[in-house]
Amino acid sequence: MALNFEIPKLVRELKKRKPKKVLVQLAEGIKQNASEISRVFENLGIDAIFSGESEWGGCSIAIQEAEVLKCDLLVHFGHAKFINVKFPVIYVEVKDELDLNPLLKKSLSHLKDYKTLGLSYSIQHRHDLKKIIDFYEENGKKIILSKKIGFAAYEGHVVGCEYHGLKAIEKSVDCFVIIGNRFHSLGATIMVEKSVILLDVYNDEIMNMSGVREKILKQRAISIQKLKDATNVGIIVEIKPGQKFGNPKYLVDKFKEQGKNPIVITMSEITPEKIMNFYHIDAFVELACPRIAIDDFAKYTKPILTFKEALVALGIKSWEDFLKTGAV
Ligand code: SF4
Repeated sequence: MALNFEIPKLVRELKKRKPKKVLVQLAEGIKQNASEISRVFENLGIDAIFSGESEWGGCSIAIQEAEVLKCDLLVHFGHAKFINVKFPVIYVEVKDELDLNPLLKKSLSHLKDYKTLGLSYSIQHRHDLKKIIDFYEENGKKIILSKKIGFAAYEGHVVGCEYHGLKAIEKSVDCFVIIGNRFHSLGATIMVEKSVILLDVYNDEIMNMSGVREKILKQRAISIQKLKDATNVGIIVEIKPGQKFGNPKYLVDKFKEQGKNPIVITMSEITPEKIMNFYHIDAFVELACPRIAIDDFAKYTKPILTFKEALVALGIKSWEDFLKTGAV
């Protein structure tokens, strides 16, 4: 990885805003750069505190921490803006400067049956977008970028809980190409029916994700059945500002109508250890990141579902509609 934190741009912004004390959030993969980044603030005479909490996405914007610590600015490294917040925030998207050419060339044999490619990228590769489009066009492909819808900050940008931009172009493309990692492509493959080809820039691999879709949807159907059979239900809400996927009160009422005993549980971050002590709960619905239920399925001993899946278990949404509108 050759990470570019665009320090001169950050310094210009800091000089303009003149904060006295900042809370710095670093995405998990760049926490190792904390000491190097600390010097930027030190040189400007700004007090910087680094958040040690997890920062999995732009949703985990640490406003509460910043307020408690009386910081006057939050600097969030590694993600694009996700939601509007009232607290002042600088987003440093971080460029991953890699030579993508060998991987792009390698991808052509996997894409030989497809003419029109629906293209999406994770934020670290946005600066390479023109080069990627030029490459595919020179090789006879047509590129359509996924739409900027919902939490996507740019055209073509993909985040793990937002695939409506891909669904919006699905009818016009032959397959999807995701530049990034398995996390984004796995979400894509359960949201769209066309093939998803991952250009895994970190493992230097091309993967067709088609086989994964059926396996995950089968797991989700099993969890939905378990929630239908459950008596005691835990509805977990997280306190992260961007993780509000569903209305807990609505679910409580609906579960009660069906004779179940729901309770609402709050957590700063969902972990198997934390939910283990609620041993009387038969199934959980988490309204935080939908990917916890989907990707971490095997880590939990009890079924854990997303809001949309809970709607299917309650009979409010049909399985067919769930597949059509997308599982995430
Ligand atoms: S909610 Fe989940 S998928 Fe969405 S940005 Fe946050 S961590 Fe990523």
